[in-house]
Amino acid sequence: MLRIDHLYKSFGGISAVKDFNLHIKKGVIFSIIGPNGAGKTTLFNLITGLYSPDRGDIQLEGRDVTGLPPHLIAKMGISRTFQNIRLFENLTVLDNIRVGFHLKQNYRLSGVILNSKAYKKEEEEIKERTHYLLKGFKMEGYQDNLASSLPYGEQRKLEIIRALATNPKLLLLDEPGAGMNHKEQEEITNFIRWIRDEFELTILLIEHQMKVVMNISEKVIVMDFGETIAMGKPQEIQNNPRVIEAYLGGEECLK
Ligand code: ATP
Repeated sequence: MLRIDHLYKSFGGISAVKDFNLHIKKGVIFSIIGPNGAGKTTLFNLITGLYSPDRGDIQLEGRDVTGLPPHLIAKMGISRTFQNIRLFENLTVLDNIRVGFHLKQNYRLSGVILNSKAYKKEEEEIKERTHYLLKGFKMEGYQDNLASSLPYGEQRKLEIIRALATNPKLLLLDEPGAGMNHKEQEEITNFIRWIRDEFELTILLIEHQMKVVMNISEKVIVMDFGETIAMGKPQEIQNNPRVIEAYLGGEECLK
């Protein structure tokens, strides 16, 4: 699904991502962990076209996406959420999701003005799919609320739903469990598993909450100073001395 070879990105003298390689098979949930400043978000920004790499290649299902603008990359099937939630705060939950569908809309402005059959049909489909997603995430009751009025955990879920509305093949989640209590983390873990199965997604996630990482990932990659220092199954990672050392707090941080 995703193939990254020899990726580099520097900011001035800082190598944020250095000779990074990653091959991910379809349908896998893959986590990226690492201390602050390890280069995780830079990697997401490179994959989604917010940054252009200095060197290296990124391929989605064999198609080169390296350095393409974000809207084209999204159209090709990569969608994401952000570490700091970025919703349209003054739009309703429903409209936030409908924005996500816009990327795949086929009707033209003339169709809207003339209230054409094609326009009405597509809008009806969007409505149905929006309700299906809201139901799947147990958020039907919120559809007319402003995004800014939602509890924190629901805002995180809404961001995931909006990303799903673009109909991605690969979904990048930047700290989906951040700021959540134990129960909310368990819930988001279940939702992530559900969307992977339901929409046949491949999921790459950055996460600091080790319970979420260990619970959900089939594979984990550990970054430090822009480089990969370990890769393997969650259990292997948890017991890797180099990984334990990279986390200043030692072993406790990985439990
Ligand atoms: P965190 O877990 O704290 O989010 P991270 O692993 O996501 O950290 P990045 O945000 O990718 O790390 O940052 C990697 C390095 O690149 C850091 O030294 C950071 O200061 C630097 N960096 C990231 N983006 C920029 C930028 N736009 N301009 C300059 N330096 C940047």
